[in-house]
Amino acid sequence: MATVPTTRAFARGSVKRCPRCGQGHLFPRWFTMLDRCPRCGLAFERSDGFWLGAMAINLGVTEATFGIFVILTMWATWPDVPWAALTVAALVVNVTVPILFYPFSKTIFLAFDLAMHQTDAGPSPELERNEERREPQERRPHVT
Ligand SMILES: [Zn+2]
Repeated sequence: MATVPTTRAFARGSVKRCPRCGQGHLFPRWFTMLDRCPRCGLAFERSDGFWLGAMAINLGVTEATFGIFVILTMWATWPDVPWAALTVAALVVNVTVPILFYPFSKTIFLAFDLAMHQTDAGPSPELERNEERREPQERRPHVT
């Protein structure tokens, strides 16, 4: 598959689409993502801990939103800042933003990962090897 321009990959990822081909409907439910892109076959989770980058993006967006919200509220109400209401509203922001941004953080991270690893031939061979090494859930040894 041809190389995808980085800006196009991020544009696709920012609207919950596959960064490689632009396919949508990657999330049957808000917190559930398909294992592969149904159009281009891009594997989404390639190794354990793969989504740590998506978590970092989600945390960064949440805290940036929180900071902007607090600064704008303080700026608009200074010097009589409603501290109690601001605290409650800040808690609401810190709970709702990561939930609402969750799927977007994953597809944006996929765009970042694609930009870092893609070649003209597709994902790097190392990523494909990691994918082949993964055993299906039911074949893993049962540990009690
Ligand atoms: Zn795709």
